[in-house]
Amino acid sequence: MSDTILISEVGPRDGLQSIDRIMPTAHKCAWLDALHAAGVREVEVGSFVPARLLPQMADIEAVVAHALRLPDWTVMALVPNLRGAQAALAAGVHKITVPVSASRAHSLANVRRSPEEMVQQVREMVALRDASAPKALIEIGISTAFGCTLQGEVPEDDVIGLAAALADVGVDEIGLSDTTGMANPAQVRRLFRRLQAQVGARSGAAHLHNTRGLGLANCLAAYDVGVRTFDSSQGGLGGCPYAPGASGNVVTEDLVLMFETMGVATGVNWQALLQAREALKAGLPGEPIYGMSPEAGWPGIREDLKN
Ligand code: ZN
Repeated sequence: MSDTILISEVGPRDGLQSIDRIMPTAHKCAWLDALHAAGVREVEVGSFVPARLLPQMADIEAVVAHALRLPDWTVMALVPNLRGAQAALAAGVHKITVPVSASRAHSLANVRRSPEEMVQQVREMVALRDASAPKALIEIGISTAFGCTLQGEVPEDDVIGLAAALADVGVDEIGLSDTTGMANPAQVRRLFRRLQAQVGARSGAAHLHNTRGLGLANCLAAYDVGVRTFDSSQGGLGGCPYAPGASGNVVTEDLVLMFETMGVATGVNWQALLQAREALKAGLPGEPIYGMSPEAGWPGIREDLKN
């Protein structure tokens, strides 16, 4: 197994869209600069959705333009539908990420389409990409893959069947998202193994939440079965406005610390990540920011405790 992973920072999208307050554009750009300087090489900068639905994302065009000026990283945006994909591809993003819910109830609440209708939308997005931006990648995050607060259990066969249908329409990557923070490590291992068996090299990122404190354990379980891309959010910002009770993406700072201390290279400098954390705080003064490692520090001798 390779000992290198990719951290895909989703805070500027998943984090900022889940809180009511709006981070000013200049602060978003400064935060992106700091994340890039810390070595982050893939970032979800926002979503292409109508500003009346998500005013936090009203400046997405400006944020994408800024992010694209920074070298050597993948600039990704979330799109819920074909119209969003058109705007994102026209803006020049390297990758679009499309949430497709395995839970029918969550799909209808989140995008007002059934999973089957979403597969059809994605088919049209692939055609659009092929015609207008052939270098752009299309990633799917299968949301509520591990359970749903609206529907309850989500059958694993539904998740894998959906992944197979999405692979058939020609997407590049398919990841699994624990939107509601209901996953456990055994389930993560089992479902990612099934995904890999079904779609092979198109098997993508683990997007895991820390809602019930199992975020890092679930990431490690995914790593153990070969997952090498991990979505996480600086300061643990994030949730889903349409999945009641969902909060807390895996904290990037803690995830980087776990992998780096294990000898797994993330490419991210943990100390520099703490500076990016300050940029995040500056843009959202007073907002609760999570993470245990920034409080405790890198493991080792505490010079301040020696006498
Ligand atoms: Zn999330």
